[in-house]
Amino acid sequence: MHVLVVGGGVSGLGSALVLARQGHQVTVVERDDTPMPSSADEAFDWDRRGAPQVRHSHAFLARLVGLLRRDYADVYAELLAEGATEMRFGDDLPPTIVDFQRLPEDDELVMLACRRTTFEWVLRRAAVAEGRVTFRTGVGVEGLLAQPAGPGAVPHVTGVRLADGTTIAGDLTVVAAGRRSALSEWLAAIGAAPVAEEVDDTGIVYFSRFYRLLPGQDYPPRTGPIGGDLGYLKYGVFVGDNHTFSVTLATPTVDGELRKLLADPVVFDECARQLVATAPWLDGRALPITEEVHVMAGLLNRWRDHVVAGAPVATGVLPVGDAVLCTNPLYGRGCSTAFWSAHLMADAVARHGDDPSALALAYDDALRAEIFPWYRAGVDQDAEARRVAAALLAGDDPDGDTSDPRTFMRSVFRDGLLPAMRSDAVVLRAFFRGLNLLATPDSLVSDADVSARVLAAWQDRDNRPPEPALGPKRRAELLSLLPA
Ligand SMILES: Cc1cc2nc3c(=O)[nH]c(=O)nc-3n(C[C@H](O)[C@H](O)[C@H](O)COP(=O)(O)OP(=O)(O)OC[C@H]3O[C@@H](n4cnc5c(N)ncnc54)[C@H](O)[C@@H]3O)c2cc1C
Repeated sequence: MHVLVVGGGVSGLGSALVLARQGHQVTVVERDDTPMPSSADEAFDWDRRGAPQVRHSHAFLARLVGLLRRDYADVYAELLAEGATEMRFGDDLPPTIVDFQRLPEDDELVMLACRRTTFEWVLRRAAVAEGRVTFRTGVGVEGLLAQPAGPGAVPHVTGVRLADGTTIAGDLTVVAAGRRSALSEWLAAIGAAPVAEEVDDTGIVYFSRFYRLLPGQDYPPRTGPIGGDLGYLKYGVFVGDNHTFSVTLATPTVDGELRKLLADPVVFDECARQLVATAPWLDGRALPITEEVHVMAGLLNRWRDHVVAGAPVATGVLPVGDAVLCTNPLYGRGCSTAFWSAHLMADAVARHGDDPSALALAYDDALRAEIFPWYRAGVDQDAEARRVAAALLAGDDPDGDTSDPRTFMRSVFRDGLLPAMRSDAVVLRAFFRGLNLLATPDSLVSDADVSARVLAAWQDRDNRPPEPALGPKRRAELLSLLPA
């Protein structure tokens, strides 16, 4: 089969790799003019305006790492050789965890630390090395070619139309065009029924800056927190490859004042120095490698359904990655779900490649079963975070309404789960398995042992000293510490 892949980001590269290794010919069309870099640092300067999030912190979760280790041991080895490092559960535990015993399942719980540009460069290099993959870069796809739909039939896509006026024919078109994918419009233009879309604002704006350790300096010990949620501000620090790291701050969309302030690099750095988890990283051991602060707003949760009322809106075309679903970057799931969806697509191709309608339905079933629950869980979590942020901004107590069941859940989270994670390896492991998409979204509550441990910690809440603060408790206090 000749497969066209529209977009050369994580899901496009994942699609190209898996399909090529299944024996298909693949043409990747990437709109960004991206000649291959020759080092991780050159890749960091890549012009990737089609995927501006590459200039933001990225965590690569164990779900993605597991797929790489299982199916692409060679690519994984190249990532490590280019400076990516593994973060294994059990290493760097806080000293307050005293009962940790490594379990066989902990071998799955490995995250990868590297810059997003390094990750993408190594994947691209591996795809280029596959004899069956051809890249067309610097020209975008502008529409679809399709056989006219007969009565009662849906359009069948037979290729793509490029911005330079040329066309490419393919047996299957995989659309990996990211969060701004125009697939819905392209489908409308060939007469397909409308794609069903669900959109929900994550309610946050992202601010990131990258740094490199000075010669002879090392990362601070990683046994403490690597981020925090102050309600009015969320933040984290991310280890990169080749002595780099990045800091990300996230404000509520509605907080215009903080948004304006944090876009200034001097204020950004000073803010990071006021936060417990990031302060040691900005104590003079590193210099910024991005002059400006990268800002990204308009971060939406979005799910697009290409099977509506039990029928595909078109055949011969399958979307993957952010073109199907976007989630809040704070959860670090996007590259995992992008790569995962590419593999669900390829599994469906392997089973139903000769039946376009069965292929579309089988892929949709797999997406719904495996990935949709994570999308839904993220949307619910964001709704709660927006409520808390709005209350704090208005000067209200987000826990003021004791009759609201969410108040109780927040208390269990704050005074049960968080302290239990600092002292109980069983709870910490369960939390990390969920965070890394290795368990179901409800696994923390559905596991009776874990729930009992969390509730025991919650019941003991009045016998413990207050939890250490992760930064200024009040927004006004932080503002008073920032340069004018
Ligand atoms: C601020 C931010 C931080 C994030 N942090 C994390 C994180 O920590 N961990 C994580 O796993 N995920 C994170 N994500 C999510 C992650 O970046 C995305 O989920 C992931 O990039 C999706 O991959 P993709 O290939 O589907 O899309 P993209 O990587 O966006 O790639 C789409 C590609 O398609 C190309 N393209 C678009 N239209 C056309 C066209 N018409 N013709 C040809 N080419 C086209 C674009 O140029 C681009 O290269 C973050 C996202 C954001 C916004």
